[in-house]
Amino acid sequence: MGKIIKLDEPLANKIAAGEVVERPASIVKELVENSLDAGATQVQVDVEEGGLNKIKITDNGHGIAPDDCRIAFERHATSKISEESDLFHIRTLGFRGEALPSIASVSHIELKTGTGDGPGSYLILQGGHVIQQGHSDSRRGTEITVRNLFYNTPARLKHLKTIHTELGNITDIMNKLALAHPDVRFQLTHNNKMLLNTNGRNDLTQVIAAIYGMQTAKLSLPFSGESLDFKIHGRVVKPEITRAGRQYVYILINGRYIKNYPIFNAIINGCHTLLPIGRYPIAVIHIEMDPTLIDVNVHPAKLEARISKEKELCGLIEKTIRETFHKERLIPSVKKNDKPKRPKSDQQTLDFSEPPLPQRQPEKRAEKINSHVETDNASNLEYNQTFDNNNHTDDNDKLVRAQEPRQYQEVIRESESITETIEQNNDLPTPDSHGDFNNDVIEEYTAHEDPLADSEPDSHNKRRMPKLYPIGQMHGTYIFAQNEEGLYIIDQHAAQERIKYEFFREKVGQTEHEVQECLVPITFEFTAKEYTIIEEYHDYLKQLGLDFEPFGQHSFIVRAHPTWFPKGQEKETIEDIVHQLLENSHVSIKKLREKLAIMMSCKKSIKANHYLRDDEIEALLEQLRLAEDPFTCPHGRPVIIHFSTYEMEKLFKRVM
Ligand code: ADP
Ligand code: MG
Repeated sequence: MGKIIKLDEPLANKIAAGEVVERPASIVKELVENSLDAGATQVQVDVEEGGLNKIKITDNGHGIAPDDCRIAFERHATSKISEESDLFHIRTLGFRGEALPSIASVSHIELKTGTGDGPGSYLILQGGHVIQQGHSDSRRGTEITVRNLFYNTPARLKHLKTIHTELGNITDIMNKLALAHPDVRFQLTHNNKMLLNTNGRNDLTQVIAAIYGMQTAKLSLPFSGESLDFKIHGRVVKPEITRAGRQYVYILINGRYIKNYPIFNAIINGCHTLLPIGRYPIAVIHIEMDPTLIDVNVHPAKLEARISKEKELCGLIEKTIRETFHKERLIPSVKKNDKPKRPKSDQQTLDFSEPPLPQRQPEKRAEKINSHVETDNASNLEYNQTFDNNNHTDDNDKLVRAQEPRQYQEVIRESESITETIEQNNDLPTPDSHGDFNNDVIEEYTAHEDPLADSEPDSHNKRRMPKLYPIGQMHGTYIFAQNEEGLYIIDQHAAQERIKYEFFREKVGQTEHEVQECLVPITFEFTAKEYTIIEEYHDYLKQLGLDFEPFGQHSFIVRAHPTWFPKGQEKETIEDIVHQLLENSHVSIKKLREKLAIMMSCKKSIKANHYLRDDEIEALLEQLRLAEDPFTCPHGRPVIIHFSTYEMEKLFKRVM
């Protein structure tokens, strides 16, 4: 007798449930996606106890016809595809027909649904078995309630984390869905408390406000672009607010949230040199394309997607975002940061996304005036402060210590009462080896080599970077300047680095170099491996104005160098270039050029506490004004911050 039997359907569904419905958040995702596929413009999600007690989704979509109600809970039952060719132009979020039977197999379900045409239906299932069926009212739309989740799969139940974590995952999913569908009104409540409320008016900025708060929304820049095959649009938040994690970059293709590293990278490259090291932007990008160019049938969770013409798409994204920043004035403003007030409604809540500090920093609490440009600690301080304001007690503290990934979030109402929001802070890494100031450069540029001396001042940049009138200098490090819009503080070293970076970037990119003979030819010795890399780059080095002549088995000799090399440091500069080549032998010439320019912009000539004459300050400010990207140093640290006159008046209580 053979031993193989065919599993009955409920058991098969239970097994499949392992893949499709891992946790409450995946159930929310599947059910809300069903609502969206049904054309809903309003989706309400009510959860209790992190979804373990109850998940209820109510939508105003087209509903399920009475005859279809039972079938919907059968395996591989779907209304979304019917033949193989449909797989190649999927426009719906679901198509596998797995979610409902899987969810039903591990919970108690109550379904009420109507098409608006005749009476509606209801259906009650337990562990996948229909135990009751009947008519309901004729409202158009679907309400589905999932209770006692995983009641019959204790192992899975055990696997779940705390209510907070599960709720965090649900919020995260809902945030993604809301960003993906700004034209749908989403509401999420937990134990009757409103956590997310978007207005469905197709306004991405409003969705960002609902998720991150008004401050972030105000700093978000719209962008859009298109090529032959792709249309993109979205928002990218100015680098005044950045995040330590990558998960705040949301990529949506044809309304579907996906993960795709090349696209993520294109966005980061678009923010090029504006982001501090190790920080990532908050961004959302919508990509519209012919569905035949994308294969979403890669993974059951449908997060990965294969895209044809990915290179073209990435090029478009990078260019669009870069140009968006180029049009903007990116000077962070310093604001008086009042203790966040509770919005009138009870909508302040948790978003579980950014890891907080393991420890609180009570001593910092007294700080009232926060620049946007602050340390990580400070932003976590904000987090903890708000935490306290809401009277969350020990339990939550434990979570803080346990480093559960999450972050405080304001959920904003549509009303104007929301303008008082928690400031989110940027971080400012502590100065590093190149954190000092270069004595010589100012004269160097003003006297002879001003890279932009004869180029026409660019009117576009003038708009970005205002004309500033110097007031003075502090600690040999900061320049104070003013204009009618208020006070500006410039980190002179960061400014210098930016100016030098752009200068060297141009120089390194030139193909013709005026060279100068070395007094004594310089010899360089290398290992065999290094030797071959240098040989490989021989032509490129020659383009840079450096002729590496082979000299014995391991050595090269260099007899001349470009005249623009920093004086007195010619040998070191060549060594550094070679070092960059060896380190980065796999990168493109374009990247390499940039690395060289960054390296030279923070070369050793730099000293701390350098006092500048008035004319030097003026020259520096003018050069900065003409820089292509005057607001950050090449490492992404801010060059300039701004106190508006109004903010100062507020600080001195001249205005309230
Ligand atoms: P899929 O979404 O992959 O088709 P599901 O198991 O999630 O599979 O759903 C099965 C079917 O039930 C769907 O194809 C759809 O016809 C119907 N359905 C599920 N949820 C809804 C809803 N909220 N509104 C209308 N129809 C729904
Ligand atoms: Mg589905």
